[in-house]
Amino acid sequence: MAAWSIEKSLELYGIPEWGAGLFGINQEGNLVIKPTGTEQAIDLKSLINEIIERGIDPPLLLRFPDVLERRMAKLAGVFEEVFTEYDYKGRYRGVFPIKVNQERHMLETYLGFAVKHHMGLEVGSKPELLVALALLDDSEALLICNGYKDAGYIEAALLSHLLGRQTVLVIEKKSEVETIIEVSRRLKIRPRLGIRAKLSRRSSGRWSHSSGDLSKFGLSPHDILWVVDRLKEEDLLDCLNLLHFHIGSQINAIRVFKEALREATRMYVELFRLGAPMGLFDVGGGLGVDYDGSRTSRTSSINYNEREYASDVVSAIKSACEKADIDHPDIVTESGRALATHHTVLVFDVLGAEGPPLDAQDPEIKDDDHELLVEMRDLLALLRTGKGHLQEAWNDALQWREQGLQSFNLGLIDLKQRAALEVLFWKAMAIIHETVRDQPYIPQDMKALERLLARNSYCNLSLFQSLPDSWSIGQRFPIVPIQRLDEQPMDRTILVDLTCDSDGRIDHFINRYEEKDALEIHALTPGERYFLAVPFVGAYQEVLGALHNLFGDTNAVHITISPEGPKIDRILEGDSVVEVLNYVLYSRKMLVVRLREACEANIRAQRITPALAKRLMRTFSDTLDGYTYLQHHL
Ligand SMILES: *Cc1c(COP(=O)(O)O)cnc(C)c1O
Repeated sequence: MAAWSIEKSLELYGIPEWGAGLFGINQEGNLVIKPTGTEQAIDLKSLINEIIERGIDPPLLLRFPDVLERRMAKLAGVFEEVFTEYDYKGRYRGVFPIKVNQERHMLETYLGFAVKHHMGLEVGSKPELLVALALLDDSEALLICNGYKDAGYIEAALLSHLLGRQTVLVIEKKSEVETIIEVSRRLKIRPRLGIRAKLSRRSSGRWSHSSGDLSKFGLSPHDILWVVDRLKEEDLLDCLNLLHFHIGSQINAIRVFKEALREATRMYVELFRLGAPMGLFDVGGGLGVDYDGSRTSRTSSINYNEREYASDVVSAIKSACEKADIDHPDIVTESGRALATHHTVLVFDVLGAEGPPLDAQDPEIKDDDHELLVEMRDLLALLRTGKGHLQEAWNDALQWREQGLQSFNLGLIDLKQRAALEVLFWKAMAIIHETVRDQPYIPQDMKALERLLARNSYCNLSLFQSLPDSWSIGQRFPIVPIQRLDEQPMDRTILVDLTCDSDGRIDHFINRYEEKDALEIHALTPGERYFLAVPFVGAYQEVLGALHNLFGDTNAVHITISPEGPKIDRILEGDSVVEVLNYVLYSRKMLVVRLREACEANIRAQRITPALAKRLMRTFSDTLDGYTYLQHHL
């Protein structure tokens, strides 16, 4: 076997493909992140050790504000470049949709960098609007208000004009128009309005249902004309500035944007012709992320880059406007995923692994043992000589195993015999797998071996809390060990989480060509912790996370690059057990009182001593204050 190398790990895990220039492996064989894109690399293994020394345990989220800043600069930058190339006269006015990651520190970090490009916020509900009103303080940045609106929402948005905010109310439903007219008349504040168009063209990808004629959002051509007429009647048509559409998230094919833009630019021109001043063209979100590095139109990838996206947007708008002889509008993007995804990495422990008993010793089978055992023993011996017909061996082994189960159920073989049969069976399967693995053609039924022989690695995390999209929509994320990458990983495994839910597992893994059914990891070394990283979890995962099995928010740590090297900026402790219990209405007091009553009753009945009762109360209380995940006391 050729010696393993860091280069082989890079290739095996596809790091150069999906890494977006952010990830690499250092000489120690540890995964590194380069948040500023320069050679300054943070060794994730050392970083995790430093964090653990401070008493903060995985699972945890590592947030790298420098990465967020670079993503913002990238998006604003490609638009500026393309503007120059096309001699485009409008400005770039990006906004970040809060729903993608509402976490306060994340949003404050965003707003800190946003001033430079005058980027703003997009909101879709009252709570989001209130956050944006309080935090966004840049008179040149837009605050785009989407979502369904009631009078309170509209009133807050209109009054914010008096603070110099550039708030735009985007009309999503006909019924909102009357409320806007009414509130605006009452407050004597003229609104700044947009229209969300329902485009006919259905997009592709996972969220195709959020576009097309049947989508939940936006106004049909007929509704748009009605809105224009109503606004004209109320002398408000000169408040209509913006056209908005949003064709779904993670748009995997550039063609989809092109088609949407064709329809939307026509719509923009028509609205201008009907007398609206317009001036803002809002292309919504949807700019995707290449999670698997394949650069294809798979759902976890995209077949274009930011630059091509910007080119398509700008050229489509420019040519439509010039044809109609109207000014180039400012361009608004609502990219959320493309901005927020890259800056967060999830890290968790692998606690242990279980799998078929391949390491067990060969059971001793004598010729007068049960015939199933003898047959299986001989089959294994034959396979070990490299002879034996594989398909026949496969069929026989499966049949004998099945018969073994029946014999056990009928009381014809005992538990020891059944266990011996299993050991022989799995060893035979492993040999068959080794043999067919590298063949160009693998018989269909034997393909299942990859999955059958994979081990289950138990991970200190809840998918429902930390990777909800992996569970709910089968979203793929890259997953890499953060250590020992100079060593060949010999185990193939699927990942299972701490929840008592059989859905709490990851059994598909990214790969350049066909997806993998198992992930290669290193055999655990007793007494040494082993960590896996899941990059690209900064968009949607945190807030969609759920309290399944009452596993709470994980710890989070912010790391920035300073001239002296990486700096741990901020540590945010995750939920304690008692905090999670509060969400479901159990108070600490009530739980402690109930357990104390039980202790007292049992002390009286002399089933527990006062000393042990005291100890139980202390453990109970410490656990209430502790982390919901498994804690190491190494
Ligand atoms: C969710 C959403 C976005 C963000 O989409 P991404 O795919 O994350 O860029 C933008 N605009 C609207 C209206 C949305 O609902």
